[in-house]
Amino acid sequence: MEYFLSEQQKEIKNLARTIAEEKILPVRAELDEKEEFPWEIMKVLADTDMFGVFIPEEYGGLGGGVFDMCLVVEELSRVCSGVAVSYAASGLGTFTLLGYGTEEQKRKYLPDIASGRKLTAFGLTEATAGSDAGGIKTTAQRTSGGYILNGTKQFITNGGDAELYTIIALTAKEKGPRGASAFLVEKGAPGFSFGRKEKKLGIRTSSTRELVFEDCFVPEENIIGREGMGFILTMKLLDRSRPGLGAQAVGLAQGALEAAVDYARQRIQFGHPIIALQAIQLMLADMAIQVEAARALVYAAARTIDSGAKNFTLGSAMSKVFASDTAMKVTTDAMQIFGGVGYMRDYPIEKMFRDAKITQIYEGANQVLRTAIAFELRKTKGMRD
Ligand SMILES: Cc1cc2nc3c(=O)[nH]c(=O)nc-3n(C[C@H](O)[C@H](O)[C@H](O)COP(=O)(O)OP(=O)(O)OC[C@H]3O[C@@H](n4cnc5c(N)ncnc54)[C@H](O)[C@@H]3O)c2cc1C
Repeated sequence: MEYFLSEQQKEIKNLARTIAEEKILPVRAELDEKEEFPWEIMKVLADTDMFGVFIPEEYGGLGGGVFDMCLVVEELSRVCSGVAVSYAASGLGTFTLLGYGTEEQKRKYLPDIASGRKLTAFGLTEATAGSDAGGIKTTAQRTSGGYILNGTKQFITNGGDAELYTIIALTAKEKGPRGASAFLVEKGAPGFSFGRKEKKLGIRTSSTRELVFEDCFVPEENIIGREGMGFILTMKLLDRSRPGLGAQAVGLAQGALEAAVDYARQRIQFGHPIIALQAIQLMLADMAIQVEAARALVYAAARTIDSGAKNFTLGSAMSKVFASDTAMKVTTDAMQIFGGVGYMRDYPIEKMFRDAKITQIYEGANQVLRTAIAFELRKTKGMRD
């Protein structure tokens, strides 16, 4: 399909593909096995300006948007979803600053983010607050010149490896959802440490870790937006970041589809390659249709956001749900086509299958997003604009 990329977007996509094939492919099994953060790859992505694709030129970026980031994420994920999410989490950790930070905050942090010198992360989830973000307990108490943070965030991607964290904490507990605020917290801030590192089913090269705040002082100039805006900013952030997750799912599904076609062409049973069997052909055709449909939805959602549209909640949620369900379905079918060897670690399908599951869970579990989509439909009576 032709998606009419600009010259710059074609270059970004091609470069991301080259990096994925030349630098990630040879080490992806090892990174997964050792559960090591992919620092070498992050350095390559930094040196090639990949962290700047969605950051305006005046802050050292390439001036693109969410769509450009999706192109990179998709290409990385086609080879390794764990690397892709380590990269994409930087979008998650940066979009709030980008959209709602002060000029001073942007000048202070964005150039280092664009150059890849500082990785970022976003911390909302807690033991008591997953889908129900209103259940957070981390507090930010006003003090002279700033705030004192106390609490523990859980399951934070890039936790421990990122240098800059966007943290959601309660500045006014009694106000419930209107009592949360967003803060920029630097690694190394006194009272900020890292707790348990999770051992995961998939995306094992990415780090998922607890963030622990014990009387951690954050200066007042590090609040993003105003007190009480924390949840509104979070909803806006997730609307903006979900196509990136969709791109992760599309890349993963694309990688699985290609591997399945390759395998079906060379696996001989009953005297012929199994791709000659109609049962296999129909599966492959369905997989290809689903991947392309997911890609089209993700690209459309990302481009809608970049167009400056005011409301993109519906498309953004749809793209994440559809692409992640597609990744799960396509990697499952790809494993079926591989038969027994697909279940073995010697072949990449086993990893892709494990990596796919998380896309249905994080950045809004698909059940929750389906509910949000239905809510939007009720508001608009299901009408398109
Ligand atoms: C690998 C990994 C990386 C992550 N990275 C980050 C990160 O960087 N930053 C961050 O802040 N968080 C992160 N998370 C947290 C992630 O976003 C949450 O796990 C996710 O939102 C789901 O929350 P939960 O795990 O508490 O599940 P729960 O909310 O407990 O949900 C359990 C089940 O109940 C269903 N459910 C819950 N509420 C409803 C509802 N209202 N309607 C229908 N069904 C419902 C869910 O769909 C799910 O099936 C990460 C998680 C993982 C596993």
